Amino acid sequence: MPVPASHNESTELKALDLAHHLPAQADYQLLEDLGGSRIITHAEGCVITDIDGKSLLDGMAGLWCVNVGYGRTELAEVAYQQMLELPYYNTFFKTATEPAIRLAAKIADKMSEGNPDLKHVFFNSSGSEANDTVLRLVRHYWTLKGEPERNVIISRRNAYHGSTVAGMSLGGMSFMHTQGGPLVPGIEHVRQPYMFNEGFGEDPIAFADACVKDIEDRILSVGPDKIAAFIGEPVQGAGGVIIPPETYWPKVEALCRKYGILLICDEVICGFGRLGQWFGHQHYGVKPDIIAMAKGLSSGYLPISAVGVSGAIVEVLKTGGDFVHGYTYSGHPTAAAVALRNIEIMEREDLIARTREVTGPYLAQALQRLAAHPLVGEVRSLGLIGAVEIVAEKGTNTRFKGTEGTAGPLVRDICIKNGLMVRGIRDSIVMCPPLIISEAEIDQLVSTIEASLNEAEPQLRAL
Ligand SMILES: *Cc1c(COP(=O)(O)O)cnc(C)c1O
Repeated sequence: MPVPASHNESTELKALDLAHHLPAQADYQLLEDLGGSRIITHAEGCVITDIDGKSLLDGMAGLWCVNVGYGRTELAEVAYQQMLELPYYNTFFKTATEPAIRLAAKIADKMSEGNPDLKHVFFNSSGSEANDTVLRLVRHYWTLKGEPERNVIISRRNAYHGSTVAGMSLGGMSFMHTQGGPLVPGIEHVRQPYMFNEGFGEDPIAFADACVKDIEDRILSVGPDKIAAFIGEPVQGAGGVIIPPETYWPKVEALCRKYGILLICDEVICGFGRLGQWFGHQHYGVKPDIIAMAKGLSSGYLPISAVGVSGAIVEVLKTGGDFVHGYTYSGHPTAAAVALRNIEIMEREDLIARTREVTGPYLAQALQRLAAHPLVGEVRSLGLIGAVEIVAEKGTNTRFKGTEGTAGPLVRDICIKNGLMVRGIRDSIVMCPPLIISEAEIDQLVSTIEASLNEAEPQLRAL
């Protein structure tokens, strides 16, 4: 175990952090009022440790990404060896590197399960960049096909596709749209398949049909010959782990085919085993034309992302000369070497099947223990991603103080105090642990949430 830093070192770092470092997605005044960020210094397996020596079970796999868990010496060694041999080279000058090529082939192999035409890969460094690539690629594709007016992309409200201008414009988070606009034009947002909030008590199949009808209505109102693509996360992650009814995706796919629209899956969270398949769309049995992936691709050990592209699309790209798009770090050999080994670890340890057949069902069953809790409106999970909805009145979806966002942060903070890192999204406690999580750790995760709900209840009732 690492030795906790001295009190002085901890205080110094927190002061420097406040003075100079602007962390992501943060309220800088609030951070100052709280005395600075929690500084994470060490991690092993599913446990993270902070500078003051406090250990937490990492129920979030970092930020939905550390699928193989922390402390994989093997990944550090691969990075070290690759850096000695060739730390960096680009793919701009009709050049490529062995790790990028081998990783592309490995990803193609995983994508081809049930979808043999999905076999090409474009590399980037983050999920947001992957979605920027998607946006440019899709519009370029339709221009080459002689239909440049087909440039509208349909997305869902409350979707998350990243933080760059293209990413947040594609995303459907209204609180992000109000900062740093204007947005990228030509993006339409439709209904999300969020049963608990938007179809409470309805029949799931009828609810899914209504969501799909909203997409079709929008296609028709914008004009079918103007729609380039539909994009969606198989399961919405940052939106609050929104698991659609099983009929939703096949019907979305059928709609895309009906109108000749490209189907894009944002697999940044669902990819690499999260739902018990290599990719989330494979769980739903649909065949996207394009997929974006990041996070679990390298288990977060180095920044790398990829866009999977069908052979049919690449044939069209070949008619257009240069695709004038790419990043300095596209196909970064060190990141690619680490990602490749990360996938090999998942294969060797059979983490996908284990998630599907062992730990995913175990988590679902463990969460059922919370279903009867007076504060819990719903528990839901698929593979190793899940959510607990907190409500003010059992049997309804009524929230504390009549609006979302009071209970979630409160319960989250109590979970963290009790040694569990989870996220509170509105009034959902969401979890997404490393795929190596043990059954004992799943029990610990669920019982910590339960204890934290118990602790929060009197405070919430007193509001
Ligand atoms: C995290 C995420 C992104 C953005 O990835 P970054 O690496 O943070 O840019 C995009 N899409 C989804 C579904 C994500 O969860």
